[in-house]
Amino acid sequence: MAEKRSIKDLGEFGLIDHLTNDISPKHASTVKGIGDDAAVLDYKDKQVVVTTDLLLEGIHFDLVYTPLKHLGYKAVIVNLSDVIAMNARPKQITVSLGISSRFTLEMIEDIYAGIRLACEKYEVDLIGGDTSASLTGLTISITCIGEGEKDKLVYRSGAKDTDIICVTGDLGAAYMGLQLLEREKKVLADVKGAQPDFDGYEYVLEKQLKPEIRLDIITQLHEKGIPLSSMMDISDGLSSELLHICKQSECGCRIYEDRIPIDYQTAKLAEEFNMNLVTAALNGGEDYELLFTVPLDFYEKVVMIEGVKVIGHITKPDAGAFMVTRGEQEIALIAQGWNSMAE
Ligand code: ADP
Ligand code: MG
Repeated sequence: MAEKRSIKDLGEFGLIDHLTNDISPKHASTVKGIGDDAAVLDYKDKQVVVTTDLLLEGIHFDLVYTPLKHLGYKAVIVNLSDVIAMNARPKQITVSLGISSRFTLEMIEDIYAGIRLACEKYEVDLIGGDTSASLTGLTISITCIGEGEKDKLVYRSGAKDTDIICVTGDLGAAYMGLQLLEREKKVLADVKGAQPDFDGYEYVLEKQLKPEIRLDIITQLHEKGIPLSSMMDISDGLSSELLHICKQSECGCRIYEDRIPIDYQTAKLAEEFNMNLVTAALNGGEDYELLFTVPLDFYEKVVMIEGVKVIGHITKPDAGAFMVTRGEQEIALIAQGWNSMAE
């Protein structure tokens, strides 16, 4: 039987070649991909959007319960999500890896299988990166480049008084998925031979481990001619993201507790964990759903789209940012979103 190849045998250049030698660019905007000192892009008269995300082992992911292929996939998705939240389209990514000595070639191949799957699904060219040894676990940094049209890009700053506030999908699921994984990790560590118990919770686990971007909704909004006054993706929790929109658009907002979309599995787990369900939906991060505002005139059109929920409206700035509870109390929204810099 042939000796198993290791990262050490391949060396840095051998590893890069092994991971990328069959990659060829699909987009006309990719003039030169992997293989020179820099990639070359040609965007002609388009606007170029650029976003980057850094993922550190132990801070952003835990390899005890995160399959490497899923990790690679999610690392791409979080970047693509930022690009579509500008109403731009992702076209190229670069991937930079810090690899500690406990990683085998197979493990890096698994990460790349996930990266490639996301690139294929969303038609993105992998055009370069950097590769280095690391003393502090695995690091993945991905940069995404996308294109948009000048008058079609959507910023956080365009929301206006009386606009309606919409979200896609449902909220809090990725956060509850994480709670479930953390619980099972503890159980497995304490009890010999224990098996994780994930039955009936496939949806929340998928939201945590394998999120998708909501390009499907953006496409429908576009087809129906619905203009977006502001938009962002929900990565740190609805509360925190809404406050960003209010601040940058210089407005206030009212959202309604009974309108916040929550999946059954999320609700069931919140009860099991004795957690406040609405708090999880408002502050749980990593849903990668979209939050956007639309002029009131388009209310009838936007409510027809499956997967979009109207949760409230924009107000004048002095009205503040509040959630109206089922008991008709007004609770000030606070940014308790996930923050990796916090203790
Ligand atoms: P440099 O020494 O100029 O940084 P490298 O030898 O690191 O160049 O990279 C050679 C080529 O391989 C470049 O095109 C670079 O973008 C690409 N590359 C390096 N690491 C990766 C990676 N992890 N994934 C994809 N492409 C990579
Ligand atoms: Mg390099």
